[in-house]
Amino acid sequence: MKYDVIIIGAGPGGIFAAYELTKENRDLSVAVFDSGHSLEKRMCPIDGKKIKSCINCKTCSIMSGFGGAGAFSDGKYNITNDFGGSLHEHIGKQKAIELMNYVDDINMRFGGEGTKMYSTAGTYLKKICLQNKLNLLDAKVRHLGTDKNFIVLKNLYDILKDKVDFYFDTPVTDVKNTDDGFCVHTVTSEFFCRKCIISVGRSGSNWMEKLCKSLKIPTKSNRVDIGVRVELPAEIFSALTDELYESKIVYRTEKFEDSVRTFCMNPNGIVVNENTNGIVTVNGHSYEDSSLKTKNTNFALLVSKHFSEPFKDSNGYAESIARLSNMLGGGVIVQRFGDLIRGRRSTEKRIEENITVPTLAATPGDLSLVLPKRILDGIIEMIYALDKVAPGTANDDTLLYGVEVKFYNMEVGIDDNLETKLKGLYVIGDGSGVTHSLSHASASGIFVARQILGCE
Ligand SMILES: Cc1cc2nc3c(=O)[nH]c(=O)nc-3n(C[C@H](O)[C@H](O)[C@H](O)COP(=O)(O)OP(=O)(O)OC[C@H]3O[C@@H](n4cnc5c(N)ncnc54)[C@H](O)[C@@H]3O)c2cc1C
Repeated sequence: MKYDVIIIGAGPGGIFAAYELTKENRDLSVAVFDSGHSLEKRMCPIDGKKIKSCINCKTCSIMSGFGGAGAFSDGKYNITNDFGGSLHEHIGKQKAIELMNYVDDINMRFGGEGTKMYSTAGTYLKKICLQNKLNLLDAKVRHLGTDKNFIVLKNLYDILKDKVDFYFDTPVTDVKNTDDGFCVHTVTSEFFCRKCIISVGRSGSNWMEKLCKSLKIPTKSNRVDIGVRVELPAEIFSALTDELYESKIVYRTEKFEDSVRTFCMNPNGIVVNENTNGIVTVNGHSYEDSSLKTKNTNFALLVSKHFSEPFKDSNGYAESIARLSNMLGGGVIVQRFGDLIRGRRSTEKRIEENITVPTLAATPGDLSLVLPKRILDGIIEMIYALDKVAPGTANDDTLLYGVEVKFYNMEVGIDDNLETKLKGLYVIGDGSGVTHSLSHASASGIFVARQILGCE
């Protein structure tokens, strides 16, 4: 089979690239390959009753398939250059914001209308944060919610399926350059294309690394974020979440001057497991539908670790820490903040008696046996700092789940067109190391599609 464009990965990057390439029905033949399932077949077996924790499915339905890692995400599209990736460093700040707004327009047309856009512009909370050594970053955020996000994806699939050949449950094993393009290998077949867009996200990070080695595309990797997911009664954070929904707050620790930041805030949401290459970590999301809302808010507190020479394997470092929590807890560990401070593990009984009722069945344990001291100290310092703007954050009953890891894919050597040194081979989305969010990944897909169509 020969295509004009093959897209590897059906996450937001791949989907928006396919959308833009085919929206005007130019005579382009496009195929999308994904190692995961089609949208309707994606289902995580954890039901909280029969199956309580991750059973390591062959492909993780939370991370793979149509919609990518974004399908069961909270659908928070942050329109900002301040976080979520460094796309603007390649394509310019104005273009990046323009494309993120364009993605938002598409989301609204495909089922997201009526959802709320929050903004930090002019908020009084900025001042309160600054007075307490906390820096509230500027952003607009569209919150689709997991349910609306799913509807948008379904509607996008319905129009794409007639224009694009989708190959689900079909991992791409290799990509080789040919005289007039690329040969894309799967376990059983070979497909040819003139241009190839790789958008394999975080779940494809190991494969991406191997491919870069075999195609001699340079990479670099030196950052990882490690921390915990905090869960507390929604009322405690309501001043922030009612006005901003998601607030990205950065704190510089006094002890080590490390940066600790809030990440992925889910008002009235749930905490979930995430499986990356067999390692179970924690994440969270929330629904737009009020009947699915819980009484809790959750968010991550992450400490960024940048490594210098000679160490290069930042993801390997974080994986080892996450593995330690998997070894001690059989998966994710949960601990009351009060227990952590008193230097004791949480037990089933203490969790049962806790005021905050956990939304994830995790193993009660001791995070101080898992997280390096420097990281744990930073998290504790930030919890006390947040307690000043959201009193109650440092209550004994606040739950901490670990480990949350934000793996950064190694940065793939791409130019400002997001193209590798192999002409016609583009790497976009989280798999490129350039983006780390729905809106940046989606915008990178639109950008590359327009490059290929010759309109950028
Ligand atoms: C639970 C959860 C909640 C999140 N919430 C938010 C949020 O609210 N806001 C936000 O901005 N971000 C959120 N994120 C992050 C966001 O989902 C990602 O940044 C985004 O999905 C990246 O898009 P992508 O297209 O680059 O990659 P992905 O979405 O990861 O998609 C990559 C796709 O490539 C496929 N693939 C991988 N390797 C291969 C291969 N060899 N062959 C074929 N296919 C392959 C995978 O199966 C996957 O479907 C969340 C993530 C998770 C897991």
